[in-house]
Amino acid sequence: MKMSEIKIELTTNPKEKPAVDQLGFGQVFTDHMFIMDYTEGQGWHDPRIIPYQPLSLEPSSMVFHYGQSVFEGLKAYLTVNNETLLFRPDRNFNRLNNSNDRLVIPAIDEELALEGLKKLVTIDREWIPNAPGTSLYVRPFIIATEPHLGVHPAKNYLFMIIMSPSGSYYKGGINPVKIMVEQQFVRAVVGGTGEAKTGGNYASALKGQEIADREGYAQTLWLDGKENRYIEEVGSMNIFFKINGTVITPALNGSILPGITRDSMIQVLKSKNIPVEERLISIDEVVEAYQNGTLEEAFGTGTAAVISPVGELKWRDEKMIINNGEIGEVSQMLYDTLTGIQNGTIEDTFGWTIK
Ligand code: PMP
Repeated sequence: MKMSEIKIELTTNPKEKPAVDQLGFGQVFTDHMFIMDYTEGQGWHDPRIIPYQPLSLEPSSMVFHYGQSVFEGLKAYLTVNNETLLFRPDRNFNRLNNSNDRLVIPAIDEELALEGLKKLVTIDREWIPNAPGTSLYVRPFIIATEPHLGVHPAKNYLFMIIMSPSGSYYKGGINPVKIMVEQQFVRAVVGGTGEAKTGGNYASALKGQEIADREGYAQTLWLDGKENRYIEEVGSMNIFFKINGTVITPALNGSILPGITRDSMIQVLKSKNIPVEERLISIDEVVEAYQNGTLEEAFGTGTAAVISPVGELKWRDEKMIINNGEIGEVSQMLYDTLTGIQNGTIEDTFGWTIK
């Protein structure tokens, strides 16, 4: 399919843009959206950009009942030279197709999706906020629309991309966050859907998140679903620990989301000759390192969260204050490198950004 096949209908009623200092996360949407249909027998068809608007769906649409849906999250950035960048968007559409495969949703044409996204960002370029730490959050997603209550892969789908100007994900910016290790509930198991980006994973995480919230913690750290012992990931970030000079992150085992920021930061660490290991790491190992003074840093990585240092990690009754609750050297370096590449002040030697 060629880019020229993407039809464009522009809004006649542009919305007012929010003030940059009023930006939250994911609350306001731009003037346009990308949309494409899937019909059995016909495949994906009619890619188009239209004014952002509500959908009309049958109450029997399968997504409402059996959760057949997938999504992605990435960002468009404005550089210091006023150029627009996307960060590794090909990885997002590739991961979307991996999620599709797990949820038995037909694969999309990744190149077409990227062309659609580039066009959409160009059309709504004025919506990219330009204050430090701000960006345009991009949410591609697919839902099963077949009106049928039978349990089977749907015959019809919608693929859409909506976009939202956003400030920092955490109100505190790069300030260290407090994370609570979840003991009772689990997010995913090997063989389940943990490595797919599908709504059900997030719905099942809400209960733990609610408990964390109530106790004043920003997010939950999930342990493995079998032994409740090995570290997996945080609500919307992958997790890294620096123990005795080595940076350790859980290996991708099938139940963890393969974060694109995670992959990028591993590459940055390697390029700076900082030892980095992807392996099993238990909560006991982290507690032991904390107790013997070798737990030097902990941080989360994610598109929305960027690099979020963990200032406090709560496990059972132990409140581990990491690096005196301050931003560690490696966390700061990674944050500076990543945001520098994204805002054009650091040369992108990795070839990650697309104009
Ligand atoms: N884990 C989970 C569960 C997430 O939702 C996210 C955010 N997409 C991440 C990790 C980080 O992934 P990425 O770096 O690709 O944003």
